[in-house]
Amino acid sequence: MSRSVMMSDLSWPEYKRRLEEEDAIILLPVGAVEQHGYHLPLGTDWIMATEMSRRAAERVGGIVAPPVMYAYKSQIRSGGGNHYCGTTSLDGASLIEMVRDVLKEFARHGARKIAVIDGHYENEFFLTEACDLAVRDLRYDGVTDVRILKMRYCEEISDEVLEIAYPAGYPGLALEHGAVLETSMMLHLFPHLVDVSKISDDPPADFPPYDLYPGNPDWVPPSGCLAPAHGSSAEIGKMLVDEFTDLVSGALEAQFRTAQTAAERKVS
Ligand SMILES: [Zn+2]
Repeated sequence: MSRSVMMSDLSWPEYKRRLEEEDAIILLPVGAVEQHGYHLPLGTDWIMATEMSRRAAERVGGIVAPPVMYAYKSQIRSGGGNHYCGTTSLDGASLIEMVRDVLKEFARHGARKIAVIDGHYENEFFLTEACDLAVRDLRYDGVTDVRILKMRYCEEISDEVLEIAYPAGYPGLALEHGAVLETSMMLHLFPHLVDVSKISDDPPADFPPYDLYPGNPDWVPPSGCLAPAHGSSAEIGKMLVDEFTDLVSGALEAQFRTAQTAAERKVS
């Protein structure tokens, strides 16, 4: 019998049982609704954050909460900017409050091990603030044993994988938008959502070392991709997915499933 790790698939008693009897880790994927060039879907970031969370949850005894699909505003120099049709964003305060509320709800129902898995570059410090405020609120309420791990699913890439995926050199995570990393992962996981015939020939973005407000859309290649997606493949995607699954599940194991944390559990 298949055993779903998706919270939305579970009845409330089963969710409760897994929290109480299996000490389940709750994973909250956070993505974006954001343009990803001509060839990738608007949901790329939340789809990927959710899938990487699902894979990690299966390894570590986790439950994947419904994702936060909306994100902090796309920035010109990292996501192409908020001016593209379909890029549908939240103000920073809205994202902070939404994630803060949801984290506290998990804790209210008994979760003590929580992970926020981020798939959108611009979310970073808004999620930091949400985690910080949630833990502070809980502490004021007398709940002192909640721990939240926050990471990007693609926080680290090994040199070995980088060499194969980026023979011409890695552009860096900020420019990896609609480019080889995301395109390859999508080709491996959800090929029906990728239209490789629409991969653009735009040159890589060449930004000045500062931001402007309002932003200047002329800085961004017309497609919205900040680095070329040519050279993407399902094979590279599999390598990246495997590596990131190891990365996320390894982090969760290290923080939440070591012998030491098991011993702490027994004592408490
Ligand atoms: Zn993305």
